[in-house]
Amino acid sequence: MIALNGIAASSGAALGQFFLLTTEIPVPSPSPSTLPLLEERQVLTDAINFVGADLEARATRSTGELAEILTAIGEIATDPALLEEAFNVIAQGHNASYAISLATEIFKELLESSGGYLAERVSDVANICDRILCRIAGVEYPEIPQFIVPTILIARDLSPADTTDLESDQILAIVTEGGGPTSHTAIIARSRGIPAVVACPGVVEYARTQHGSLLGVDATTGEITFNPPAEIQSRLVEKVERILKRKAQLVNRTPLGYQTRDGQTVPIYANIGGLKDVDVALKAGADGVGLLRTELLYLDRKLPPTLEEQIQIYTDLFTPFAGQKVVIRTLDAGADKPMAFINFDHEPNPALGVRGYRTVYKHEDLLRIQLEAIAAATIASGTNVWVMAPMITLPQEAANFVEMAKSYGIKTVGVMIEVPAAVFHADELTTICDFVSIGTNDLGQYLHAADRESAPLAAFNDPWQPALLRAIYQVAQAGLRNNCPVGVCGEAASDAALASVLLGLGVTSLSCSVSTLRDVAAAVSALSYPELQLAGIAALAAGTSQKTKESARAQLSALEDLGL
Ligand code: PEP
Ligand code: MG
Repeated sequence: MIALNGIAASSGAALGQFFLLTTEIPVPSPSPSTLPLLEERQVLTDAINFVGADLEARATRSTGELAEILTAIGEIATDPALLEEAFNVIAQGHNASYAISLATEIFKELLESSGGYLAERVSDVANICDRILCRIAGVEYPEIPQFIVPTILIARDLSPADTTDLESDQILAIVTEGGGPTSHTAIIARSRGIPAVVACPGVVEYARTQHGSLLGVDATTGEITFNPPAEIQSRLVEKVERILKRKAQLVNRTPLGYQTRDGQTVPIYANIGGLKDVDVALKAGADGVGLLRTELLYLDRKLPPTLEEQIQIYTDLFTPFAGQKVVIRTLDAGADKPMAFINFDHEPNPALGVRGYRTVYKHEDLLRIQLEAIAAATIASGTNVWVMAPMITLPQEAANFVEMAKSYGIKTVGVMIEVPAAVFHADELTTICDFVSIGTNDLGQYLHAADRESAPLAAFNDPWQPALLRAIYQVAQAGLRNNCPVGVCGEAASDAALASVLLGLGVTSLSCSVSTLRDVAAAVSALSYPELQLAGIAALAAGTSQKTKESARAQLSALEDLGL
């Protein structure tokens, strides 16, 4: 038995034979070009055009999110800046293969130094380069075969282009050596419901030596096992069976939301960041949108979006949810989501700096244009649109925001509660606002003074931390006192057991990631309100994150049966 650990990127489990996708790509040599300059340039241009057209064709064959991703990657492949960089290398007397690999390295470094989402695009750029190198060398790019029996796929990394024709019903799980939780492998696996473990060091080398052996994948813990012993095999089989049972679990749903076992309504919304998420959210059974992160629409922009542009995109985003609710959040620029047209001052501590609603102090015009666009798109779409501001600290800020938003004709206005001071102002905030939504990701980090991106401090950001649960309870109770709906849209609502606890604490709606919405809905449908409340009480009484979880789970035995 060989056990390895990676990051669980798409939950589930699998046990079966594996296939190692080996991508033998021609290695470019720095040998001088043997062609005249113009011909060498032509070799490269032809190869790039071929790869660009191939990616475009793949985008046309695909739908939804994958189609959008492929189009974006096709644009990277044919980016004039990449070609120009490579032409510069050719001008120094090098061959086309060497030139494109050098130009790609420069591109990759740029992305890497930007960090976060952009850094995870590095593997896409590398994949484009591999495809171009194959084309120049006149060899076929190694594609994923069409499996005829259920198989676990292992690869160094997968690019969206690799997954275009993936027959997901024959793929038991995906394990990659590279990638991260927001890499495309992870995104695509989640959207297709394929269990996936990414960033699993050593998996490719072991796969070579363990050829023909059985592989166990636990994509909840991130553990993979070559040649698993009987005990691990039966644990995995049991897990797979529970997951199947959960998928078959009947959910109780009315037009107003999901229903607990004893008939209480709980709306479950989706968190979305763009058009690509709309279809998936609706298919997953979202009651609408509980958090539309508008900054994600404009992260790569140098100039602010115009009023017309914003009206168009918000109308496109709202319209599919006509008859339902969409909670749109105004730009949460700053900290880990800097935006070139807002955050141009260097800040030593950006998470504690000019972020979210605070950008209004310098750029009121941007907020005003956004509110005007939201108001216009609301009318155009016929959707019930609620608007909220991120990073509100003081009641006065909430009052100013509510007044400003209403002056544009927006009817339902609220704020996020994600700064500890706002918890202590919960009574005022739930009086001033039409609703509040708790951002547990930031509330957790600010309560514990622990950067949510920091791996060594991850335990502080465990959403089961007692201080976080107690803060949520205070806000939920203030909401009940002041007749103000209190939702949770942070990641805490995406954990089926914790979401159950949140409801027990008095939260009135949940908004979770699309990938876990079905699990949360299954949990809500399987539990009664008194059970949720008992879980909430048990969690509040515990003193550590492990204990809050254990004590709550002890009250939620129905979840055990569903493998949640
Ligand atoms: C949060 O902080 O919990 C939240 C939902 O907002 P974001 O993750 O976008 O900061
Ligand atoms: Mg936040």
